[in-house]
Amino acid sequence: MKPVVVMCVFCAKPNRVDLSRLAEGPKCGNCGRPIRLDRPLPVTDATFDKVVDGSSVPVMVDFYADWCGPCKMMAPILDDFARQHTGEVLVLKLDTEANPATPARFGLRGIPTLIVFENGREARRQVGAVQTADLLEKLVPGLAGAKA
Ligand SMILES: [Zn+2]
Repeated sequence: MKPVVVMCVFCAKPNRVDLSRLAEGPKCGNCGRPIRLDRPLPVTDATFDKVVDGSSVPVMVDFYADWCGPCKMMAPILDDFARQHTGEVLVLKLDTEANPATPARFGLRGIPTLIVFENGREARRQVGAVQTADLLEKLVPGLAGAKA
């Protein structure tokens, strides 16, 4: 069992998903639509703790804003990272404009900022954009798919 708790992107209901059974194609228990974990999932001030605390794997959170150019440039790298490490790490994105409470709680000074959580606690932080996937992999030591 490698449980995570994620909000359905369609109906916003929380779902408990076992990452060791991703091949079966998890579906939302409420609306029945697929739950995809191969891409960054949105979290909000309201759902942040539930998702981060509920994860049995490391969680990487991208704190971004729509007006932030470096955030936009980093987005495809993060997408690739999430796809490559599906089931090993949960990649989340938080819109800091719509959700100011969580960035304030973690003392964010600028965006983009990436924070990696392990067992619900901050383990590593990267301030500023990263240009390559291997720099993202360095933030989460021990990934199976990582290139040294
Ligand atoms: Zn749903």
